[in-house]
Amino acid sequence: MLLKDTQAKLFTTLKKYFGYDSFREQQQAIIESVLSKNDNLVIMPTGGGKSVCFQLPALLLDGITLVISPLIALMKDQVDGLTANGISAAFFNSSQQSFAQNEIFDKVINSEIKLLYVAPESLGLLENILSEKHISCIAIDEAHCISSWGHDFRPSYQQLGFLKQTLPNTPIIALTATADKATRQDIVDQLNIPNATQFLSSFDRKNIELEVRPANDRVTQIIKFINKKTNEAGIIYCLSRKSTEQLASKLKQNGIKAMPYHAGLSFDARTKTQEDFLFDKTQIICATIAFGMGIDKSNVRWVIHYNMPKNIEGYYQEIGRCGRDGIKANALLFHSYADVIQLRNFAEGASNEEVQLAKLERMKQFSEATTCRRKILLSYFGELLSENCGNCDVCKNPPQFFDGTIIAQKALSVITRLNESEASGVIIDVLRGAHNATIIDKGYDKLKSHGVGKDISWQDWQQYIIQLINQGFCEIAFHKNNALQLTSFSKKVLFEKKLVYLTKPVAFKDQAVVQSAPKTKKAKNDTLFERLRKLRYKISLEENIPAYLVFSDASLKEMERARPMCEAEFMEISGVGQRKLDVYGDEFIAEIISFMDGKTPKKKKGDTYKITFELYKEGLSIDEIAKKRNLSPTTIFSHLAKLYADGKDINIYNFVSKEEVDQLRKAKEALDSPTTLKPYFDYFKQEMDYFKIRLALTIIES
Ligand code: ADP
Ligand code: ZN
Repeated sequence: MLLKDTQAKLFTTLKKYFGYDSFREQQQAIIESVLSKNDNLVIMPTGGGKSVCFQLPALLLDGITLVISPLIALMKDQVDGLTANGISAAFFNSSQQSFAQNEIFDKVINSEIKLLYVAPESLGLLENILSEKHISCIAIDEAHCISSWGHDFRPSYQQLGFLKQTLPNTPIIALTATADKATRQDIVDQLNIPNATQFLSSFDRKNIELEVRPANDRVTQIIKFINKKTNEAGIIYCLSRKSTEQLASKLKQNGIKAMPYHAGLSFDARTKTQEDFLFDKTQIICATIAFGMGIDKSNVRWVIHYNMPKNIEGYYQEIGRCGRDGIKANALLFHSYADVIQLRNFAEGASNEEVQLAKLERMKQFSEATTCRRKILLSYFGELLSENCGNCDVCKNPPQFFDGTIIAQKALSVITRLNESEASGVIIDVLRGAHNATIIDKGYDKLKSHGVGKDISWQDWQQYIIQLINQGFCEIAFHKNNALQLTSFSKKVLFEKKLVYLTKPVAFKDQAVVQSAPKTKKAKNDTLFERLRKLRYKISLEENIPAYLVFSDASLKEMERARPMCEAEFMEISGVGQRKLDVYGDEFIAEIISFMDGKTPKKKKGDTYKITFELYKEGLSIDEIAKKRNLSPTTIFSHLAKLYADGKDINIYNFVSKEEVDQLRKAKEALDSPTTLKPYFDYFKQEMDYFKIRLALTIIES
């Protein structure tokens, strides 16, 4: 247990440097454990907030924190993010010139940086600083790379065991999103940290809405989906390189900013595509699973699986790339039997064929679920959810079962008539009474059951047949050209009057919304969020850092909701720390005020002060003005300060005494004229209100 003072310090540091008021689940306990010099193993899902767990202690410990990270792209992003928060950090790699490397050594020796990122391959070059004199903590990110059980095994991670031997008293914190028991044991063993405290967080990513749809006419469905997601970044995962290119080009033809990404493209092309995506210049990436490992972009709002992934691990890792900022995100998976067949072909003949096929089967079950999908997903990872999640398609649209016995009998009798030799496409054609070449050539149009299912559309038949397969009433013979065959269950339906329950095929909500899309688009562009997003984009280009590092979507959303109009209010936004307030505060506050003014018709910029002044002259109290204007009293005070500074007749001493102004004058000197109000607030041990500080400063400065 840490001292009370140290605990309070955790919170002030969290707000000052990261802009957050509270810790997420486990973060505080982990940080306290690091500060108590324990070794730690942290398992937290992607977006759970692992970085703060070593970045915050780094600020409170004396020397530097060494961060081992597998990807150079990821390091740069983290260092940029830290710099934006006013934390000095650097990364080291073997491709840097020796003078640049020496500069980093100097910084370490002179304690000018708090965090140093390095790839395991480059650790050997750090000999002269690798001592307990300089290093106070070692963080090992993506720690599962150490284990050959994991899917991202990196041989260079296996030499990390020497760290504990070289620096026996330096706490190690290993972090990963992979929870699996064998991997965990492997990490602890190989790092020589047998006594590490293990922190296991829930795997659930509640903010991600899960949805699965049948893969009919995917491109149209995707375009409709994207049209409702104006300016929202997303990733579409495809199975093949070719389909990433085809899909991106179809989207482009529809005016959507999409780019393909796969391992077959040149290094330069891939780097540029990734950069443009990080910087919000490209909205959408159509990618193979080669894309994503180096992506920490917190404002990816959705992930689509154009094809079914080969297992649940992959699916969960890929959808985990959206919604890292904790606000609403969408994961949409298209399910088709063609994909299942293709994935089976891939798996067959592999050395671990059985495992692969079993994993594929679980993926298929997830896709076909008629109960809460999140429950299925989490149970796969050994976590049990007691309630349905309420944020998946099944929870939102519980399937309506009806007596589908006749439908089933029709399908099964056609399968029988065709001698269990045809795949579902032909079965449906016969059911619907088609007269195409295959049907006529084979004489299927002469069958008694040709056309018995005319009244049901092709798509609906497709879904009913999938349901019949899922319930075991028929099956696909993968080795016989995917012919549909009967099972012991089918006979019960055909001859023993067994009842079959089916669910109505879902009509997707997108379809109904399409016509109104242009209208919502226009309205969307007019929101405060959109204005703030544009400002963020402008700043991101000026500073050459990705927009989400200026502010996350979550922070912009909160600004839209709370509409802060002065520094004190702005500082209350989650994600606004001291440096971001200092550097971006003015511009964002100005944008919010100008938006508010623009909202009231026929009023020009600056009128907000005028209205406040009019009401003030009428003799209304601050609270009354605030209430009438639907603004906070703090904002009204900030208006009065501005009016006073502009020379308007405001009796400012009604709100702040001469003594208080004197006290502030002294504080200003003692603090060396800070640019923000917070240092004053702290100077007075939080006992002088922000509005008084502001008013007194206005008097002093004018
Ligand atoms: P991980 O490394 O576990 O994938 P990150 O460390 O990148 O996750 O954090 C994910 C997101 O959550 C980031 O946008 C981060 O700023 C935010 N975050 C982290 N801790 C908190 C907190 N205590 N309150 C609010 N947001 C947080
Ligand atoms: Zn659910």
